[in-house]
Amino acid sequence: MAQPIHNERAKKIFEPTEEYISKAAEILKRGGLVAFPTETVYGLGANALDERAVGKIFEAKGRPCDNPLILHISSADEASLYAEVTPGALALMERFWPGPLTIVLRAADIVPLAARGGLETVALRAPANPVALALIRKIQLPLAGPSANKSGRPSPTRAIDVLNDIGDAVDMILDGGETRIGVESTVVDATERPLAILRPGAVTREMLAAAPVEIAEAWTRSPEKARRSPGTRYRHYAPSVELRLWEDDSQGVFGAEGAWCYMGMRKPPEGALRAIIFATPEEYAHGLFSTMRELERCGAKLIIADFPDVPGLGEAIRNRLSRAAGRY
Ligand code: AMP
Ligand code: MG
Repeated sequence: MAQPIHNERAKKIFEPTEEYISKAAEILKRGGLVAFPTETVYGLGANALDERAVGKIFEAKGRPCDNPLILHISSADEASLYAEVTPGALALMERFWPGPLTIVLRAADIVPLAARGGLETVALRAPANPVALALIRKIQLPLAGPSANKSGRPSPTRAIDVLNDIGDAVDMILDGGETRIGVESTVVDATERPLAILRPGAVTREMLAAAPVEIAEAWTRSPEKARRSPGTRYRHYAPSVELRLWEDDSQGVFGAEGAWCYMGMRKPPEGALRAIIFATPEEYAHGLFSTMRELERCGAKLIIADFPDVPGLGEAIRNRLSRAAGRY
């Protein structure tokens, strides 16, 4: 019989064998919480149609109850059970699912208001991760799954991050190793035309522009957007020490008082207590949150992060960094 793969402290972490995926499905059907890997970050899963189970997610994360959850489903075929699927949304699902794209649509009544933060809309996504898909297929229910971190913390990209943040509150953590992408899904509002990007992610603006849909202009923050996507209102992704951005060619930000750590794609000036360098935007995104978690323990009270002026995935990285730095 398969055994838990970690030590006593981590006895909630399990290898995602068929046996443990079945156990996880039983827990979910009974109204429990299971953290699961996706290709973006780890999700905190509950049966999205069970209001009490959904309530446990908000409690475990300390998440404001008006911040809606993403419902994870296994394919576009299931979308019409939970939402009014528009032609534009269907085109996106066909092109990008399973994958890191969340689509906001008008909700079907079957989706509890608690799961959608009281909104008339619901967010749907089919994740491109074999463990997540196996779990969803096993339960035959939509899996509500926000990132499995305490609200406001960097998202978890490893099972151990989930354990450290909310280990006491989850019934089980399925360990799928480090997540491939490292930043959360792109969120697109498909309830209006043109479609609006509410959160940038690995399905980039450039990729969406090449799809047969009309996408609104540049991603900007506005009161209207905050109203439509409540998640954008709250402090997010923040490590426990100050994070400052290195935005341009000037090195002014390094004239810092005291010890500092660094992460980014450019080589920083001498003097960092620790410096983590990423070769590509993909590597930066992949390591963004785990590096924040590592550097907050490196002994310095300050992390300086390179603000990468690159297209594509750069938009998602800049978005998470701005928010981690407390810009909004
Ligand atoms: P999280 O899963 O915690 O990483 O965040 C989910 C993101 O999806 C948040 O930014 C939410 O605001 C957004 N979201 C979820 N449901 C909706 C919805 N019905 N309308 C708009 N945004 C949503
Ligand atoms: Mg989150």
